[in-house]
Amino acid sequence: MPVLSIVVPVFNEAQSIGVFLERVSPVIANLKLACEVIFVDDGSTDGTSDVIANASCTSMSIRLVRLSRNFGKEAALTAGLEASSGDAVIPMDVDLQDPPELIAEFVRLWQSGYEVVYGQRICRNSDSAAKRSSAGLFYWLFNRVSSLSIEPNVGDFRLMSRAATDATLQLRERNRFMKGIFAWVGFPAVGVPYVRPSRSIGNTKFNYWKLWNFALDGLTSFSTAPLRIWTYVGGAVTCGALLYVAFIILQTLIFGREVPGYASLMVVVLLLGAVQLVSLGIIGEYLGRLYMEAKQRPIYLVRDRIGFESEVSMAAEEAAVAPGVAS
Ligand code: UDP
Ligand code: MG
Repeated sequence: MPVLSIVVPVFNEAQSIGVFLERVSPVIANLKLACEVIFVDDGSTDGTSDVIANASCTSMSIRLVRLSRNFGKEAALTAGLEASSGDAVIPMDVDLQDPPELIAEFVRLWQSGYEVVYGQRICRNSDSAAKRSSAGLFYWLFNRVSSLSIEPNVGDFRLMSRAATDATLQLRERNRFMKGIFAWVGFPAVGVPYVRPSRSIGNTKFNYWKLWNFALDGLTSFSTAPLRIWTYVGGAVTCGALLYVAFIILQTLIFGREVPGYASLMVVVLLLGAVQLVSLGIIGEYLGRLYMEAKQRPIYLVRDRIGFESEVSMAAEEAAVAPGVAS
């Protein structure tokens, strides 16, 4: 049984696998703990699975979960956590943006009693200014509208005890905003500051549109404030409208009927129309997510699993029952 499970979602990362194992392997060798690395192939089309199946590593066993298509990083991560059996689990990116050298410190803090040890980026210089400021805005907004607070600049790179991992897996929602899920689960946690380097090989798999939708997922999964705010906006607009009605009635009573009013009429009509469309859109965002959740589809589908103990022992049993049949 492994003590430590490293979970790595990969999507079209054939070139990164070798470099990743080379950097992680010595770190694990120094720890002297039984360790497994679980790669989750999230529907790659560049032969990533073959590279993993042929890879070898002296300090840890390599396992592979292949999903039936690309389900997205959050689902792939969930598949990996579910397949892990270690007493502690570390989700990591394959591109070495999560420095493997930190693992030793994570394990030390875990052994000293923390259930969760997370990496916290102290500077985001490796990101573009636009990404930095949009991330900053997102954390600010999230912590304002959600009763849950998430640490800024904390990603998926962390160590979780078995208890924390199992707790995480109890949240079966389809919109899996992992940062939020990790925070929601709680457990005694401590942060380890680190400088996040740029991607070592290949390109980021997240464009701005994906990130925008990711932010929407995060906000809608952990806050209903955007939905509820419309009661207050509606209330404020109603008060304004009532005042305006009173004003028009008085004006008509005092100064008589006045025909010009096209501009004010248009302003009111357009403004109200816009407010209503925005509020409808926000209801739509929630309704769409509710619909997806209501379908109760699985979060991911596994195509096959390679290198897992249970399968190895099952294959051995079959071979024992029918010698010569199993190939
Ligand atoms: N990834 C994945 N499925 C996806 C997109 C990304 O499994 O649909 C993996 C990717 O291979 C990498 C990790 O998620 O191991 C982080 O991706 P990336 O480095 O592109 O994200 P960034 O660091 O730019 O946020
Ligand atoms: Mg990356």
